[in-house]
Amino acid sequence: MFYNNLIHNNKFFSLIENYYKKDKIPHSILLYGKKGIGKQGHAIELASSLNCTNRSNYLSCGRCHSCIQLKSMQHPNIHFIIPFPRKKILSKKDQPEKALSTKDIDELIKIKKAKIIDPYSDFNLQNANTILINSIRFLKKELYNTSIEKGWKIILIFEAEKLCIPGPESANSLLKILEEPPAKTIFILVTNEYNKILKTIKSRCQNFYFNKLSFQKIRTHLDSKMINDNDLKLLNKIFDGDFNLIKKNLKKINDFNKKINKLFEYILNCNSTSQNHIYFDKLNIDKLNWFDYMKLFIIVLRDLQILKSSSTIKNLHLKKNIETYNKILKRYPNAVWSNCISSIEKTNIIIKQNVYFPLALKTLSIEIKNNLLNQTQKSFI
Ligand SMILES: [Zn+2]
Repeated sequence: MFYNNLIHNNKFFSLIENYYKKDKIPHSILLYGKKGIGKQGHAIELASSLNCTNRSNYLSCGRCHSCIQLKSMQHPNIHFIIPFPRKKILSKKDQPEKALSTKDIDELIKIKKAKIIDPYSDFNLQNANTILINSIRFLKKELYNTSIEKGWKIILIFEAEKLCIPGPESANSLLKILEEPPAKTIFILVTNEYNKILKTIKSRCQNFYFNKLSFQKIRTHLDSKMINDNDLKLLNKIFDGDFNLIKKNLKKINDFNKKINKLFEYILNCNSTSQNHIYFDKLNIDKLNWFDYMKLFIIVLRDLQILKSSSTIKNLHLKKNIETYNKILKRYPNAVWSNCISSIEKTNIIIKQNVYFPLALKTLSIEIKNNLLNQTQKSFI
């Protein structure tokens, strides 16, 4: 096993097992699914397994020469292709690395080291929005001009959807290689945005979908001393199962809980006649923490919607807040919770479009108040 901290996707590993059993390994594989669930980690695990000289069943040993080479990111047969920033214009013959500044190169070394330790760590450079055509050109050269060493040549292409940005040049160039793949070569493409991958590339690959991680799997990989069940459920909900973000935000859980309490206070005061209470001013929301706040707000509103329609706590996301929820439902018996959610979603869109922030906040707070009290007149304006 290359990683001891990867939450295994059992279906993926049985697929690998099958490859070995049948001695039939596809030339190209496309791994897709949500962000932060370990697709890149599984791709690296497969790469290490294919070249491991001391493999047990389908898992690499993590200790042989090949595994050690990969651990130092120095494996001559395992290549990583990721998006690069387009800061410099390259000529046809330029190596792709020429596009990188000294800072980018330092960053690249850092993210490679991090990836070897943590399969969920981010593996991208700042402002890198495209897989450069030069990366594919050099790959071609490397694949066709160099003699095959022992083992498999493995090309890992991360954020593969960026093969098509800004145009399909890199994707088409890769497609030509995929159509006539060199012997003993495997391409493993990974993407969070399957719909942006060219159909022609999809059809050349074995496509494998990664399911979201179950809460139970996430739970077993994080010590309960680190975070309790309720708090972990909250983080899981906020970050939609992105294990990388969940881990990164473990220490912020108190902050999220404080924000929720402030939201409760805000909601409970919405029926106040004092104008001061109806706006978001008291929450100290700024543009930076807006989306965090609104994610929490939507979670709370969905819970209220569930509780109102079914009176059962089984499906609530934040069960521990049941008392406050009941208090809110009692205070706003006619509230239209779904409209509150739509108002927030609409506001999120206009804030992304850079509308005047205080105005968006004020409008939203009026809409929320109206929906809580189920009144149509625009009060306080
Ligand atoms: Zn090994």
